[in-house]
Amino acid sequence: MQTLPDTLALIGNTPLVRLNGPSEATGCDIFGKCEFTNPGASIKDRAALFIVEDAEQRGLLQPGGTIVEGTAGNTGIGIALVANAKGYKTIIVMPETQSREKMDTLRALGAELVLVPAAAFSSPCHFVHTSRRIAEETPGAVWANQFDNTANRRAHIVGTAEEIWDQMGGRVDGFTCAAGTGGTIAGVGLGLKAKDENVCIALTDPHGAALYNYYAHGELKSEGSSVAEGIGQGRITANLEGAPIDTQFRISDQEGYHWVRRLLDEEGLCLGLSSGINVAGAIALAKHLGPGKRIATILCDTGFRYLSTLYDPAWREAKGLG
Ligand code: PMP
Repeated sequence: MQTLPDTLALIGNTPLVRLNGPSEATGCDIFGKCEFTNPGASIKDRAALFIVEDAEQRGLLQPGGTIVEGTAGNTGIGIALVANAKGYKTIIVMPETQSREKMDTLRALGAELVLVPAAAFSSPCHFVHTSRRIAEETPGAVWANQFDNTANRRAHIVGTAEEIWDQMGGRVDGFTCAAGTGGTIAGVGLGLKAKDENVCIALTDPHGAALYNYYAHGELKSEGSSVAEGIGQGRITANLEGAPIDTQFRISDQEGYHWVRRLLDEEGLCLGLSSGINVAGAIALAKHLGPGKRIATILCDTGFRYLSTLYDPAWREAKGLG
């Protein structure tokens, strides 16, 4: 066992675990990257660290400065803990529809929290536009801009993809995950393709997002809806530009929840809904590639963040989830 020099060194180098139920259901080896083991308990710690250090290197952040971001919550948690470790202040703008636990965590970390109503991206009230305005109006502030700041996907090219490649001994047939900013799918996709261009990169899209139709038919069109937090994109963000997507699957909340439940009941993993949707996508990719293949996906965040939503039977019933 080794020691680490500081909290920031806890970000990344996450374990990769074989998911036995999904593997047995398909005759493939399906692995989950345990991003809930990051200090902020989600994959977004990686992007937060790269975005903050990129701003430092560009000379945009001075000691005691402020980082402003619009987020479904996990990026905000990542930024707040990186900011605390480096001596910056944090202002987080979040839609009020996100889980109570994320809001409580952000407040506990000392972030200033600004809640806005859920709004279309075209509305000036959307959390992304609100966060940009606050950054412009706050002296000494930088806007993290996770959707269009490609420091986000760099975290996955040099971090997540390298780790998956090493952990799987360089034998990777496929990778899939859903997109929020698109940093993970694009970054891991680019990183794995640089190792071996035959790795099949699949986008797993929730209902209500527009990317499935974009990659399948060249048209950004959304159908249906999803209650999954942190995923579901309606445009090609800068992080998604040039993402090497070979194929795509559309996964319902019900399918995602089925795998959240099974992974908890049968393998003791407590995850959020985007992880279940990713695992359902990995099973679709396994069926697409055929038996004997080695596939990786992302277990994005901890289920403890959703005790008042996904793990509450009354909430699930109201949302039509089993
Ligand atoms: N799952 C969860 C729970 C998230 O918070 C996010 C980030 N918004 C994602 C998945 C998607 O990651 P990315 O932004 O890299 O596409």
